[in-house]
Amino acid sequence: MIPSSWKNADLHCHSAVSDGTLEPEALAARAKDNGVELWALTDHDEVGGQLRARTAARALGLPWLSGAEVSVTFIDTTVHIVGLGFDPDDAALQAGLAATRGGRRERAHEMAESLAKAGIRGAFEGALKYVGNPALISRTHFARHLVDSGVCADTYEVFRRFLTEGKPGYVPHRWASLRDAVGWIRGAGGLAVIAHPARYRFSANEEHALFLEFIAHGGQGVEVVTGSHSAAEAARYTETALEYRLCASRGSDFHSPAESHVDLGALPELPGRLTPVWDVLQDRIQLPR
Ligand code: AMP
Ligand code: MN
Ligand code: MN
Ligand code: MN
Repeated sequence: MIPSSWKNADLHCHSAVSDGTLEPEALAARAKDNGVELWALTDHDEVGGQLRARTAARALGLPWLSGAEVSVTFIDTTVHIVGLGFDPDDAALQAGLAATRGGRRERAHEMAESLAKAGIRGAFEGALKYVGNPALISRTHFARHLVDSGVCADTYEVFRRFLTEGKPGYVPHRWASLRDAVGWIRGAGGLAVIAHPARYRFSANEEHALFLEFIAHGGQGVEVVTGSHSAAEAARYTETALEYRLCASRGSDFHSPAESHVDLGALPELPGRLTPVWDVLQDRIQLPR
């Protein structure tokens, strides 16, 4: 099997170790069933699921890369950087991720206070019921609580009415710096990718600054085909990848069978003009024995 012939790589999804609902083993099986040819689990700010993902992928004969999605603050905006193909045991990476997720519990208490002012009480305890990893309370867990307690019909409505800038439950937070996030990934032997670039509300100048600084710090990839990109957005970031000479990644950003619109592996192919990240990461891929 030659990695460059792979079409169905899915290098972005979440397990219950962050804000997904499936365990790493169930995600690996779902990826395999859906025809995924190369898989990475990319939990937010956390590599605690990587050994389980690797073991499950090996048992299924599913080629695998290590992964994580690091939360970054750039020009007062949250940006996500996916790291792929790093050593999950790297001490500096682990310390950096631990520091990044460190403020989440306090932030969650502040989110609950803000929701309480809007008349929604007990949201911290409610969200905690959905948390698989006590170090990783995220907005997604609050969203699940607000749906299951009948406040909203689905998680999309939650993020429209709550938890986003200017809405009840939103608490600004300072995540890792772009320099640190890319540095941790590179230092651990991995490749850094700007996740879902169409989701950020940057001006053209700000986006240009993001790409230039990312590259200056050693970033090498951009997610072009991803669950939250329309066809037009994928086409736009195909041009961006070529313009900045970045390699391209592809991943569903799957979180849950009940919530995610795009299933594992159920994505358009990367345009043939792009260099897939898995070509660059060939020697980092765990192949079936
Ligand atoms: P956090 O890291 O706690 O800020 O939570 C961010 C997570 O919330 C993302 O990774 C998504 O899983 C989810 N999320 C954020 N914005 C939205 C949105 N507009 N619609 C659905 N899910 C969202
Ligand atoms: Mn998430
Ligand atoms: Mn993200
Ligand atoms: Mn994600």
